[in-house]
Amino acid sequence: MNLIMLGPPGAGKGTQAKRIEEKFGSVQLSTGDMLRAEVASGSELGKMVEGLINSGGLVSDDLIVKMISGRIAQDDCKNGFILDGFPRTIPQADALGEMLAENNCAIDHCIVIEADDDDLVDRITKRFTCADCGAGYNDKFQRPKVENVCDKCGSSNFSRRKDDNEETVRTRLEAYHEQTKPIIAYYAEKGFEKRAQRGNHR
Ligand code: AMP
Repeated sequence: MNLIMLGPPGAGKGTQAKRIEEKFGSVQLSTGDMLRAEVASGSELGKMVEGLINSGGLVSDDLIVKMISGRIAQDDCKNGFILDGFPRTIPQADALGEMLAENNCAIDHCIVIEADDDDLVDRITKRFTCADCGAGYNDKFQRPKVENVCDKCGSSNFSRRKDDNEETVRTRLEAYHEQTKPIIAYYAEKGFEKRAQRGNHR
């Protein structure tokens, strides 16, 4: 099963993608995680994109398309993948269409998660993760059961993303509304069926 997760930053795309990965075996492909890994490794690409990511802007379509097209062609994607954070612009969606045709596959569903901007700012600026196992926490909604100890792996090593401050989050939301949200209509026009589901996915 091949899926696209669409929605603003902080809506829970990554969290839901991980759950779908565990349940159905499709592999999560997060372009944000891939870029952060490049930054952490100190690669040329990482050096090029670090400033942009930290200011909340979007990395160029060319770079992103090159990065994800290599990844989709790998063997572990043959059983399905979940695109998390890609496509983020209409040109990226067009490039994805070409990539899928080249790899003889198609998208089965697009999942859209919606949330209010102010709630997202509140949620993102309070989130943090275990630096060792990646478990997600939030100062307000989901603190570790024992203060400063990860529920999953027992580590006390927590981290916060540099771009999770209010100013950068507002810029990321602007980029979402201007460049990414139109992709929902783009896929609706391609015939993806609209089904609404309301609920608390926290
Ligand atoms: P995310 O983890 O999805 O919130 O992405 C973090 C940052 O990585 C974004 O604010 C962008 O700077 C960059 N980024 C991730 N995916 C893309 C993409 N598909 N196109 C452009 N920039 C991206």
